[in-house]
Amino acid sequence: MVASVQAQVDGEFQNVWGIRAELRPVVWSSAMPTIQGWRVIVANNSDQAGDLGYHDETGVLPTGYVFVEDAIKYGVTPSVTLSHEVLEMLIDPWINATAIMPDGSVCSYEVCDAVEDDRWSYVVGDHLPVSNFVTPAWFTPHSPGPWDFKQVLRQPFQLARGGYIAVFKNGHWSQRFDSESFDTKQQAARIEKGRFSRLYRRTMR
Ligand SMILES: [Zn+2]
Repeated sequence: MVASVQAQVDGEFQNVWGIRAELRPVVWSSAMPTIQGWRVIVANNSDQAGDLGYHDETGVLPTGYVFVEDAIKYGVTPSVTLSHEVLEMLIDPWINATAIMPDGSVCSYEVCDAVEDDRWSYVVGDHLPVSNFVTPAWFTPHSPGPWDFKQVLRQPFQLARGGYIAVFKNGHWSQRFDSESFDTKQQAARIEKGRFSRLYRRTMR
């Protein structure tokens, strides 16, 4: 899983965003809190992560979470979720970057949410599936494309089927979903998944 995301970060993601990272898998041990660096904690479910509670010790560094059993429960490929979290951390590590949308509202600067559905994931060589991601052009009104790596979007700020984006409007944040694929069950899963990932990270700080 880590090797697949590393290949993505070193390859197409760096080509598009000019940013990369070195991913190093570390098995949990009591020495872990002393390891310096950004971290993505991979656990089976959110209860475990909530119980670990060590994130406070190094709370100054960005920390992501991937919950494998939860991902599977909601029909999401864990390697796609790991990719999603890693790519978004690289572009918005402090979860405070935003872009101004054409209607004047503000959206979070998250590079996978708009194309997060598994159906937009992709495989390179014999690696595991990784998440599609949007390009800098996606956040820029009237920009020429491409707006996402897989080129499924046709304009800035567009949401692919199964995608969503957090929008700040009239003084509060809400999630804007792709209207064409509105499905309460899917949406509930997405809201839940959102809580497990980015929003969850937000609440961790
Ligand atoms: Zn996200």
